Amino acid sequence: MKYLGIETEKVRIGVFDFTGCEGCELQLANKEGTLVSFLDLLEVVNFREISSERGDNYDVALVEGAISRDNEIERLKQIREKAKVLVAIGSCACFGGVNYLKNRFSMENVVNEVYGEHKVETRRVQSIGEVVKVDLEIPGCPVSKEEVERIVVDLVTGADIKFPKYPVCIECRQKLNTCVFDLGKICLGPITRAGCGAVCPSSKVGCLGCRGPAEDANYDSFRQIALDHGFTAPRIEEKLKFFNALGAALQK
Ligand code: SF4
Ligand code: SF4
Ligand code: SF4
Repeated sequence: MKYLGIETEKVRIGVFDFTGCEGCELQLANKEGTLVSFLDLLEVVNFREISSERGDNYDVALVEGAISRDNEIERLKQIREKAKVLVAIGSCACFGGVNYLKNRFSMENVVNEVYGEHKVETRRVQSIGEVVKVDLEIPGCPVSKEEVERIVVDLVTGADIKFPKYPVCIECRQKLNTCVFDLGKICLGPITRAGCGAVCPSSKVGCLGCRGPAEDANYDSFRQIALDHGFTAPRIEEKLKFFNALGAALQK
């Protein structure tokens, strides 16, 4: 059996991190209940958080984090050259994520204001796909561990890879949650792709769109709903841009 040209008997996997909080990797490493059977499908040749192996003979590279330093570009290109399939995991890798907020300022200001006398080299943030070819993106901040496992198993078995097309609101309503708009908070659930189990609104926190757009997301309608609930246009745009996950869609 093959997927994207890979023989799928026991896929060799490497997990790598760039600029991010490593929360996505931690999601994978933390899944004690299914970790053993999940890893049974794979040969982990490089995954700093769980293994001392440092092999570079991986078929699939899972890449977490955004690119924010010059030396990360070279390292990412090397990983791309070695991997047959490169998967961006998490909103930092897929869209730039929270790191993208930095791009609102000049890098000179960032270095001066944040690091003061302890200067560091930093650059405008880029998603993984802005630097190298990405075969698959699994968004989320953090990723859903169930979703990553399901997709990696699909990769290994050659099954079709599917993401929910419907919005977070569907999952939220299934849980019979009180809508956070009715609690005076803004929520991007109507336009954001489901798959996280509506974890934020279930904790009475508005969705910030970390998983990117739902299919057929209607931004104008969403803006009108938010305006009708008393939110100002600048506040709405600020929320829409938070993870840079809706950025491309917003520019259409
Ligand atoms: S996507 Fe979120 S959880 Fe994952 S590395 Fe970035 S900030 Fe951390
Ligand atoms: S809380 Fe958010 S996700 Fe839930 S129903 Fe309201 S808008 Fe939709
Ligand atoms: S509710 Fe929204 S912000 Fe929260 S995890 Fe789900 S998609 Fe991301």
